[in-house]
Amino acid sequence: MSQSQSGGEKPLLAVRGLTKLFGSFKACDGIDLDIGHGEIHALLGENGAGKSTLVKMLFGILAPSDGSVSWEGHETLIANPAAARRLGIGMVFQHFSLFEALTVAENIALSLDEEISMADLARKAADLSKAYGLPLDPYAHVADLSVGERQRIEIVRALLQNPKLIILDEPTSVLTPQEADKLFETLLKLKSEGRSVLYISHRLEEVQRICDRATVLRHGKVTGSCNPRTETPASLARMMVGADVAGVERPASVGAGPIQLEVKALSVNPRSPFAMPLKSINLRVRAGEILAIAGVAGNGQSELFDALSGEYPVPENDAIQLRGRAVGRLGINERRLMGAGFVPEERHGHAAVPALSLSENLVLSRNASDRVAYLAGGGLGLIRHGLVQQATRRICEMMDVRKSGDDPAAGSLSGGNLQKFIVGRELDRQPSVLIVNQPTWGVDAGAASRIRQALVDLARSGSAVVVISQDLDEIFEVASTIAAISEGRLSAAYPASDMTRERIGVLMGGLHGLESDHAH
Ligand code: ADP
Ligand code: MG
Repeated sequence: MSQSQSGGEKPLLAVRGLTKLFGSFKACDGIDLDIGHGEIHALLGENGAGKSTLVKMLFGILAPSDGSVSWEGHETLIANPAAARRLGIGMVFQHFSLFEALTVAENIALSLDEEISMADLARKAADLSKAYGLPLDPYAHVADLSVGERQRIEIVRALLQNPKLIILDEPTSVLTPQEADKLFETLLKLKSEGRSVLYISHRLEEVQRICDRATVLRHGKVTGSCNPRTETPASLARMMVGADVAGVERPASVGAGPIQLEVKALSVNPRSPFAMPLKSINLRVRAGEILAIAGVAGNGQSELFDALSGEYPVPENDAIQLRGRAVGRLGINERRLMGAGFVPEERHGHAAVPALSLSENLVLSRNASDRVAYLAGGGLGLIRHGLVQQATRRICEMMDVRKSGDDPAAGSLSGGNLQKFIVGRELDRQPSVLIVNQPTWGVDAGAASRIRQALVDLARSGSAVVVISQDLDEIFEVASTIAAISEGRLSAAYPASDMTRERIGVLMGGLHGLESDHAH
């Protein structure tokens, strides 16, 4: 039982009627929320529900349009992040704000409100990182650090202020299961010291594992508050999306159509010291089949995607064959022209340009033959806006993309909605071969289920699909066949019906196995 529930003690933070308008759009709509002392409180909700907007108001980044915030029983105005830090609120952001060229200690110094010598700071940071199980070298350059290490800097930076409340916005969406486990230990230690944590996540299992209370948001409103441990993932998901999350309907049988994609003895040398070499990869995908490739991030998934998509063509032309034609040396546009579609892992800056509208992003992605359809005659390069708008609307409807306005900037969409648009954009071309890398990375349950169903439907309509994913639930939901990638090697593929988590773990060579996933 958390302290907040004992007796009439005042909550650490009490939010009443908090509202945020963007124009006429209510991103947060009269939110009430109490956070007790020593409580790990989850904030749940679909993408676009208003979670980030809410915590930005609590950290003084956004000014509320209405409502009040009380801290330790006193109504207060949090005018800016410095004011939030003075109260005792620390925040770990979803997108890190670090300077790559600077060291860990220099980055931390930049964010502090008071003067402190670099040596003192480095020592304090090192002490904290040790005390909280967040190994970090203060003198390392950020450019050389992994995503998990970068997140630790943000956490140590927040801890230096000795906060009473730490807010983390989707901290595990960028972590491996092992890194996430380490983070959970840190959070539990913070709780044992009587600090409170506000934890935003999509992952219902981890919320159940570490959180004492959960508040659920939908369309900017609180739809419920519960003890997540007495709920099931299904009941939590229902609170988030307002109805039962549709289970993905599977095709009755594995496709046995003609081979659409074949890879033979594909080897790729690493392009950088951080890249994984690909070692003699073989695979085959037939029309109507979804081949899912399991593996922990960093085992060659992005290198494999780059080779299959032509983002980085490979020297052996024969090593990759699309519908019987060698394409290894062809680029991504030429492969698209042959009917292939690709959805890369990184959404911002890669799959979509945040500052451009959805329709502009659509035109950008439609290469060669596709683009022709959007160009007016006469070779003037004029875009046929009517057609583009029509396609944008069609994609948004098909994938239920939630957005403010008709054709907003891609960057204004929440992650899950942008991902639905990006996947929809490829599906709208009806590719005969589709390759997707981490299709529901950081995406809420409702959007994930929509995307998975769309992939299954595409395969059912006769396309060959490759899904590269770290998410075993996703793999079992969509796959007809499953292979695993480990250290740049791909296992043989087996029918999904013959596979278990344990067998996938074995295929992954036990090296980066999933056993730590089950360690708790
Ligand atoms: P979540 O974090 O739950 O995914 P957000 O709080 O980021 O959701 O966004 C909630 C809604 O507010 C979304 O529909 C988003 O498009 C919109 N929104 C967020 N920031 C802005 C902004 N600066 N201007 C206009 N709309 C915004
Ligand atoms: Mg968010």
